Amino acid sequence: MRLANCTCQRVNDYLKEHDSIMLVLGSTENHGRHMPLGTDTMIPDKIAELTEKQSHIMIAPTLPYGATDSLMGFPGTISIGVDGLYDILTRITDSLYEYGFRRFIILNGHGGNSKSIEMLGKRMHPRGAYVACLNWWLMAGELNPDWAGGHGGAEETAGVMAVDPSLIDYDHIDEPLIMQSDVCEAMPSTGWDKVSFMGATVVIPRRAMNYNANGWYGTDAPNKATKEWGDRMVQTMADYAARFIEEFEKAELPKEEHK
Ligand SMILES: [Zn+2]
Repeated sequence: MRLANCTCQRVNDYLKEHDSIMLVLGSTENHGRHMPLGTDTMIPDKIAELTEKQSHIMIAPTLPYGATDSLMGFPGTISIGVDGLYDILTRITDSLYEYGFRRFIILNGHGGNSKSIEMLGKRMHPRGAYVACLNWWLMAGELNPDWAGGHGGAEETAGVMAVDPSLIDYDHIDEPLIMQSDVCEAMPSTGWDKVSFMGATVVIPRRAMNYNANGWYGTDAPNKATKEWGDRMVQTMADYAARFIEEFEKAELPKEEHK
């Protein structure tokens, strides 16, 4: 059930039986030259659509912006930052809390959103409410290790294929991983914000475009993706989300410590 399609009366009726709501969080950011900027938004939105078919859960409108400062510079990328996302999330959940919602199930499509979500969870817990975060791309890799992937790699490419295969730019799907030593030759870039030096990893936060020219990163080459993979993966995540919601609604809410 989509909140945006409901009347206030319908929301009231829902709240007589339930106190849970799903928030779908995305991002608008570069995902390699083969992928659309909306990748992190459209995949969880697709999972939400499939969850809706098998669950009574109320689903709030999808937020297409996230905290993605690291990908700024790639044209089209929009970041509202960790603080901006936290502010929006607190406004959304405070509004919903006022009507009686107490279980906020976040279906998240972007790793950079995690800090804001964690802050939100810690804020809501003493108020007698839970925030549960389903990071779909990490969980998919746990449920099936063959699906595990990085940023803009085969896992997410398969996810976009499940939404609409025509959104992929197949002229660029064969591009290899391009990592550059942008700090100095002695410190090769080895991952998001990471460099390797003398056998250990040092974190040096910086814009990804300095060390990762095309903007996809991972061990899962995008050209390994198939639509079948994507279809199975988003359906599995939707099945999981529906079961999770069912069980999570049985959990006793945390004790309210203050208002
Ligand atoms: Zn992504």
